[in-house]
Amino acid sequence: MTDTAIHTKGITKAYNELTAVDAIDLDIKKGELFGLLGPNGAGKTTLIGMLSTMLRPSSGNARVWGYDIRTDSTMVRKSIGVVFQDTTLDQKLTGRENLDLHGRLYGLPKKERQDRIREVLELVELSNWADETVQKYSGGMMRRLEIARGLMHHPNVLFLDEPTLGLDPQTRNHIWEYIKQLNQEKNITMVLTTHYMEEADQLCNRIAIIDHGKIVTMGTPHEMKSSLGGDMITLELSPEDDTSKLKNRYVEKTGNENISISENKLRITATNGERAIPEILKITSELGLEILSVNLHKPTLDDVFLHHTGKDIRDTSSEGGSIKRTGRMHRRRR
Ligand code: ADP
Repeated sequence: MTDTAIHTKGITKAYNELTAVDAIDLDIKKGELFGLLGPNGAGKTTLIGMLSTMLRPSSGNARVWGYDIRTDSTMVRKSIGVVFQDTTLDQKLTGRENLDLHGRLYGLPKKERQDRIREVLELVELSNWADETVQKYSGGMMRRLEIARGLMHHPNVLFLDEPTLGLDPQTRNHIWEYIKQLNQEKNITMVLTTHYMEEADQLCNRIAIIDHGKIVTMGTPHEMKSSLGGDMITLELSPEDDTSKLKNRYVEKTGNENISISENKLRITATNGERAIPEILKITSELGLEILSVNLHKPTLDDVFLHHTGKDIRDTSSEGGSIKRTGRMHRRRR
């Protein structure tokens, strides 16, 4: 018995000139909580669409729970649950009725349906709301009901497309707990897409970072962040200043070439950020440059993304401390 839940080989989806998913090779193990992290438009939903047999690949192929997505789609569908980005619940039906409908679609006999509905509602703590119409539910409750629905037919793999999109931080944390619990206690293989790096970081055992339909890098969140090799320092200089001057002098003095410039920002990776900052400030002062802000933090997945793609995922969450000073810090023109 193989321990692979999902195996893809060169899976590709092209829409005219646009290649939404570009020859992705991926192996996800049974029991993993796997994250597809990437900005909007990266190709995450399209990949899930193909793996869940909603979309046909243009080329390449995949196996889900051992079944070929092209030739064995019925078995693939029986093995998976899908929680879509947009709600597909019937607002006029009650929670119980929505689940019952899903159970019927999967051919579950009446008694089994009733038992399973009770079980999944308990799991997502919605038993007391079972007979209310969905239109009375909050956004978080709807998402929980959708997760419950995805679990009705005992799937081996659950796909969650942006499971916490649009939810407030507290509800998001709540949903994270359910996802972890289902993965750990019920041993369900989970594949989730997200553009929230914090979500991928907190939840997933392993992550593939996706951009323009390709996997940019893959690994555990810890591996990815450690691969950057130290603390991240970002310095924002006055737009009038020549940032490359600081870069060149810093490299000359420290031998650390792990430094990049984008516009008036300098990003340095240093083994010990706290020690590196005074050194940088000294050089800045010697050169008579003006620093607008300094930020020091432990590497985040956003830094990993930036390192591999040269751009931000554009997530507002951040980790670590920040020293932000506006106005003049070191200004000594020669
Ligand atoms: P993500 O889920 O990472 O936000 P998507 O998989 O939704 O990304 O989209 C990937 C790319 O494919 C985007 O550029 C999107 O506009 C394009 N795309 C998705 N579906 C279609 C479609 N049906 N027709 C044309 N282009 C599409």
